[in-house]
Amino acid sequence: MAGASVKVAVRVRPFNSREMGKDSKCIIQMSGNTTTILNPKQPKENKSFNFDYSYWSHTTPEDINYASQMQVYKDIGEEMLLHAFEGYNVCIFAYGQTGAGKSYTMMGRQEKDQQGIIPLLCEDLFTKINDSNNDNSMSYSVEVSYMEIYCERVRDLLNPKNKGNLRVREHPLMGPYVEDLSKLAVTSYNDIQDLMDSGNKARTVAATNMNETSSRSHAVFNIIFTQKKHDMDSENTSEKVPTTSSAQSILPEGANINKSLTTLGKVISALAEVNKKKKKVENFIPYRDSVLTWLLRENLGGNSRTAMVAALSPADINYDETLSTLRYADRAK
Ligand code: ADP
Repeated sequence: MAGASVKVAVRVRPFNSREMGKDSKCIIQMSGNTTTILNPKQPKENKSFNFDYSYWSHTTPEDINYASQMQVYKDIGEEMLLHAFEGYNVCIFAYGQTGAGKSYTMMGRQEKDQQGIIPLLCEDLFTKINDSNNDNSMSYSVEVSYMEIYCERVRDLLNPKNKGNLRVREHPLMGPYVEDLSKLAVTSYNDIQDLMDSGNKARTVAATNMNETSSRSHAVFNIIFTQKKHDMDSENTSEKVPTTSSAQSILPEGANINKSLTTLGKVISALAEVNKKKKKVENFIPYRDSVLTWLLRENLGGNSRTAMVAALSPADINYDETLSTLRYADRAK
């Protein structure tokens, strides 16, 4: 089966202090599913795009398009978690320029009601597992891995001492994987939170805090969720092993588009085409052209469900990057 189309959301963040300091104007408008961007140099020129969701955040919660962290999770994360229980591979990724709100959407902040998609999804995952503990015919296990892809090299964020470039290999049945990448068993949401925190500290971006660096860095957090159904009569065991991946990719500025992002764009558009034309062959999809897409192959096409959140700045000074992000998101539909 060809992958179902990608669910695409865009989310605009509030102005930051730099934008406010420059007295920036808001060039994004949202109404229902439609997002419009105004060209600050040519006020009559605007472009509109339709997405599954258009999320507004920088006015009051009464605004019809306003979306809380919980709302974003309910629309996107919850559905993906259900698909994981059904046995699909699931991938949620955030895209957009540095500072546009990817981490806020995926991770969020520690304060109340500020948690992002990954923590809310993990909490729900363990609640569901605990709820079904009475069912003796089912057993579950959860493992996580966390890696950074930087200039086509893979680093293990859960074992940063391993500074080497890990090898990417292909398993005949399971597909592409990273050799020697740590895979740690977790039994609660807190375990995941601790691993994510220590992994974040190990990121190249955190170490150097440079735009130049962050534009080439992609963080991929994998949750490997295994469900086993035991057949009490015949002692058969059947396994469903979907992986839930979440990736944060950062839009570099100007012409400095890197291989992973260009290829990810091509892969997603090609999958959208496959889906529209209901073609069965996925052979022409260029997964192999970058490490990011190669490793996400099983999570993007085939037996998978994918959602993307494109993060936007509201400010006129970011017009070019924001328009480019909207176009990228538009091609994914
Ligand atoms: P990125 O990961 O894309 O570089 P961040 O997620 O770190 O960007 O966002 C930059 C800043 O904007 C952070 O301080 C974050 O808390 C804030 N922010 C981003 N999106 C929102 C939002 N929707 N509502 C409130 N604050 C936000």
